[in-house]
Amino acid sequence: MTNDAPFSQTWGMIGHEWAVDALRRSIQSGRARQAYLFVGAEGVGKETLARGFAMTLQCQHADPASRPCGECSACHRILSESYPDVMYSVRETATLKIDEVRRISSQIAMKPYEGRHRIAIFRDFDTAMGVGQDALLKTLEEPAETGVLILLARSLAPILATITSRSQVFRLRPVAIAAIRDALIARDTDEKTSAILAALSGGRPGWALNALADSSVLEMRAAALDMLENLVKDTRAKRFAAAEDLAKDKDALRTLLELWLSYWRDLVLMSENAGTPLTNIDRAPALRALADHLSPEQALAALRATTGMLKLLDTNASARLGLEVMFLDYPGLSAA
Ligand SMILES: [Zn+2]
Repeated sequence: MTNDAPFSQTWGMIGHEWAVDALRRSIQSGRARQAYLFVGAEGVGKETLARGFAMTLQCQHADPASRPCGECSACHRILSESYPDVMYSVRETATLKIDEVRRISSQIAMKPYEGRHRIAIFRDFDTAMGVGQDALLKTLEEPAETGVLILLARSLAPILATITSRSQVFRLRPVAIAAIRDALIARDTDEKTSAILAALSGGRPGWALNALADSSVLEMRAAALDMLENLVKDTRAKRFAAAEDLAKDKDALRTLLELWLSYWRDLVLMSENAGTPLTNIDRAPALRALADHLSPEQALAALRATTGMLKLLDTNASARLGLEVMFLDYPGLSAA
């Protein structure tokens, strides 16, 4: 599929052509199901796929093959999330609450106001606890004729088997880096920026588009990697001071550790001469210099320590102590 394919065939998606094709065919043949589960990483394209599917089901274009047109009133309002027959769940805390699941479920049972269907899109359904998921079961077991449920989840593991067995599951895998790069270039981004963002995205087009729109994403990343490159040269005392500081904000720490993890992974690949493309391609000179000083075992130890620290963040253990232990496993170029 080329970049100039009509909106009705791409739904504005980057990658996942198979999923768009399968969903389009199911609508055209009148075999659309009543419950879907789109699974994949944050920013991989689940929500864009759900929105495209909802638009195709509701579009007012006379020719079904041209839906979604992207131009009619229904398409426009679904894009701006103001269409009365497409509802989104709202998550205000760490978990999707049972009351919210019930609120949307009761809405879906109603007749459509103006569309052909009542569609509910549950964002972050993997954050719903067991009781919250149970609240959806009745809707799944006795679906309203016009109701369509689309559940979005980062992973299948937290989803009850009773839910997955009643849903058509689409697993969205990371999109090819080259496909993301080409899509960014087609959106008038220069080639260098496109290549860097695509490599950093980890196959998640939404991440790349977000980083393109919000320059603070790349600035934060640069600061995080600068900090790591400096810490490797720093004394133990300075590292422990950094540990105290970093432990104060767990969310920011998680983002930072994920960036550091990608850096160590690159270093392992480089020191093993794996020939695998790097993630942090713009840091290749610094990585090369570091790889010349450290053994592959040292790089691997730092990678494992960072993975361990990320796991520790999910527990109640002290982040500060965890960071201190991690820093002891980090290689040092400093004598002290
Ligand atoms: Zn339309």
